[in-house]
Amino acid sequence: MTEYEQMWQELGVDLEKHDRLLRGLAVLIRKHHKKQKNRPVNMDYFDSVLDDPHGHRVKEMVEHRKQGGIVVGSYCIFIPEDLVLAVGGQHVGLCAGSNFAEQDAEYYLPRNTCPLIKASFGFKVSKACPYTQISDLIVGETTCDGKKKMFEELVHHHQTYLIEVPQKKNERSREFFTSEFLEFKTFLENLSGKRVTADNLQQSIELVEGKFKALQRLFNCRKADPAPVSGLDALTVVQLGMQDEVKRFTDQINLLCDELEKRIAEGVGVTQKGALRVLIAGSPMSFPNWRLHSIVEKSGGVVVCEESCIGTRLFSNLCDGLGETVEDKIRSLADRHMGINCACFTPNQERVDDVLRLAREFQVDGVIHYALQFCHPYNNEAGKIKRALREENIPLLEIQTDYGDGDGQLGLRVETFLQLLKENRSEENE
Ligand code: SF4
Ligand code: SF4
Repeated sequence: MTEYEQMWQELGVDLEKHDRLLRGLAVLIRKHHKKQKNRPVNMDYFDSVLDDPHGHRVKEMVEHRKQGGIVVGSYCIFIPEDLVLAVGGQHVGLCAGSNFAEQDAEYYLPRNTCPLIKASFGFKVSKACPYTQISDLIVGETTCDGKKKMFEELVHHHQTYLIEVPQKKNERSREFFTSEFLEFKTFLENLSGKRVTADNLQQSIELVEGKFKALQRLFNCRKADPAPVSGLDALTVVQLGMQDEVKRFTDQINLLCDELEKRIAEGVGVTQKGALRVLIAGSPMSFPNWRLHSIVEKSGGVVVCEESCIGTRLFSNLCDGLGETVEDKIRSLADRHMGINCACFTPNQERVDDVLRLAREFQVDGVIHYALQFCHPYNNEAGKIKRALREENIPLLEIQTDYGDGDGQLGLRVETFLQLLKENRSEENE
C-alpha cells in the first residue's frame, strides 16, 4: 500500500471506488488537456495538481488537522472562505462535475435532481472523495430548492451547518445576511477554539481578495486576440482554486499571467488571431466538467470568458470600505456576497446586464447559455438572457445538459453554432 493509499484509507475513503475515480480522471485529462497545443509553460504547476488531485494537497490538510486546524467544505461561493481562514482553518470547495457517484446519490435523492447536487452529495455517500472525508464541517446554503433538500439528507451523513441566503437584494436582506455571517463566525469560533479578530479577518480578506484580483488579471488577459490561454485551461485553473492553498495558488496565477501578458505583447496565442470567440454563461462547471469547453475549442472556437461561479461570479466583487471592527468587516463581506448575481436571486436583472457587458468586453461572436438539467434557476433565466441578447444582435446557443459522457449531439449543436458565427463574421466583413 502506498503512503497516499494509507492516508485515504485512514480518512475512510473507499479505496476501490477511489481508484476507479482516479483512473477515469486520468483518461479525461489525456482526452482534454494533454491534446491541446501551444499551451503556456506556466500551466505546468496546474498540470502537476491535475496529475496528483488527491495526494499532496490532502496530505497538507491532514498535517493541518494534526496541528489542531479545521477543514471546512462547502458547495457554493456564498460561503465566505475569509471567515474560515480567520479562525486558522482551511476551506475546500466540494462541488463535483462528474456523474461518477450518481447511482449512490440516487439511492437518497430523486433522479430528477440537478447533476451538480447529485454529484456533490454522491461523493459524500460513496466515500470516494478525500476532500469530503477530511472536512470537519460541510457548510450548506439555502440557494436553490434542490440543494436545500439535499442538505436535509446530508445532516445524516456529515456534520453540517446551514447559512440562509436572501432571495432579494435590498437593505433588509443585507442586514439579514450580515446576521447570518455573524452567527456563522460564532459557530466557527466554537468549532475551532479560535477567535475572529479585526486583524485576522482583515488579513484573511486581503488573502482571498488577492486571489480574486489574480483571477481578474487572468480573465483580463483572455480579452486579447489571439487568446493567450485556452478556455479549457482557464476554467481548470479556477476549478483547482477551489481546493488549493490560497497564497500558493494566487502566486501561481500571477506567474501564469506574467507569461500571458508577454504572449499578448508578442501576439502569441493558443489559436490563430481571429478565431471565433465564445462566452459561456450559466450553471457552474465544477471539476472535472470540461466537456463543453473541449468541444468548442476542438471545433475551432475559443472560450474567452465564463459568466459562472467557476468564473466571473466568483471574483468580480471585492469588499468596499472594510471598516474597523469585526462586525464592520463582516457587513462588508455580506455586501460583497450580495453582489453575486446568482440565479437564485429574484428579480435578477443584474445577471442579464452582466452577460451583455461581458459579451461586449470580451468581444465575443456568440454566447452559449449552459444550464444543467433540472437546474430551475438557470433554465428559467435562459429566456430573459435570450431576449436581451436578441435585442443586441448577439447570437445565442441554449444548452441544457447533464454530466453524461456522450459528446455526439452536443458536438453537432456546437459545430452548427460556430458555423453560424462564421457566416455572421463573413457578412460583417463584406
Ligand atoms: S450558482 Fe448560485 S447556488 Fe450555485 S454555486 Fe453559484 S452562487 Fe452558489
Ligand atoms: S446548478 Fe442549479 S440546481 Fe444545481 S445546485 Fe446550482 S443552482 Fe441549484
